[in-house]
Amino acid sequence: PLPVVAIVGRPNVGKSTFVNRVLRRREAVVEDTPGVTRDRVAYDAEWAGRRFTLLDTGGWEIGAEGIHLRVAEQAEVAIEMADVVVFVVDAIVGATDDDEAVVRLLRKSGKPVVLVANKVDDQRFEADAAALWNLGLGEPLPVSALHGRGSGDALDAVLDVM
Ligand code: GDP
Ligand code: MG
Repeated sequence: PLPVVAIVGRPNVGKSTFVNRVLRRREAVVEDTPGVTRDRVAYDAEWAGRRFTLLDTGGWEIGAEGIHLRVAEQAEVAIEMADVVVFVVDAIVGATDDDEAVVRLLRKSGKPVVLVANKVDDQRFEADAAALWNLGLGEPLPVSALHGRGSGDALDAVLDVM
């Protein structure tokens, strides 16, 4: 079986957009509002000649009710399945309580983590990405999943720990 790279994070941070960026096609469903149920979450992906399974955990989102619990639950299942976890945080919003909850799960798991500071569409937002050093997960990699900025470096980092 291929190594599993799980994309974890709270709703609306850009997980599916990142998946589409990696796949170079619009397969994962991007929603402006969180809370849409989708079935398909696993994709065959490749970067720099290495193949892996990409898991878009957004597929398990339900309604806004109990969303906090759901974020942690989804993350826990995905982390368990993963060989490498890509933890996506919205750098512009900054770390929220939900993000902190995921950080605790990641620490407990001991799995390798690549921290993606997403929505850094412009160099002006690099400082927002750097603020995520506070999460204690190592270097936050500034990415714009929407425009592709930094996504190659993030994938290189995934391969380094895969
Ligand atoms: P998910 O719930 O984590 O899967 O998030 P989505 O991929 O569905 O994206 C949620 C919203 O954030 C959508 O409106 C995306 O277009 C937007 N988004 C995702 N990545 C970026 C980014 O890099 N920059 C900006 N400005 N918006 C983004
Ligand atoms: Mg999604």
